[in-house]
Amino acid sequence: MKVSVIIGDAGPKGKGVFAAAPIAPSTKVAGYYGRPRWIWDIPEELWPYTIQVDYDKYVLPRRNGVIWYMNHSCEPNCLISGKYLVAGRAINVGEELTFDYSTDVDWSGFSMRCRCGSPGCRKTARAYRFLPARVKRVYGRNVAPFILREYFRAPPGVDPAALAGTRSVLRSP
Ligand SMILES: [Zn+2]
Repeated sequence: MKVSVIIGDAGPKGKGVFAAAPIAPSTKVAGYYGRPRWIWDIPEELWPYTIQVDYDKYVLPRRNGVIWYMNHSCEPNCLISGKYLVAGRAINVGEELTFDYSTDVDWSGFSMRCRCGSPGCRKTARAYRFLPARVKRVYGRNVAPFILREYFRAPPGVDPAALAGTRSVLRSP
């Protein structure tokens, strides 16, 4: 089922993505399939829109699409699950859809001042490797596949990226 969202005004963050109808937990919100490109082949002003998919490789999402406008939150309502963003809990009409950029970026130079305003705001979003252990536990395997490959163990013969988290794990505010 396709989710119903609208692009709207997210205040100081610029534009954002908002639910136009209730979204059930685990619903696929958007896929970030696309051609991986070397980061230096992408103009720097577009870096904030990219999704990291491997070391120095990024996908530039469809311009003006859902992922293009989806903002970061330190207490998001969406999660990465494989190559999709999924609802991490029930999302109400009018709620802004967010995910944690630190679950798809592991470039150590990444640093973004956060304006998410959530009680648990880390003030600065940085690479996955710098997330506090308790935050990593919340996300578990709901991180980008290349991060699973780097940090998670799988049984012999199994690609860790296949262990992508699918549970809806986030608590409601
Ligand atoms: Zn924040």
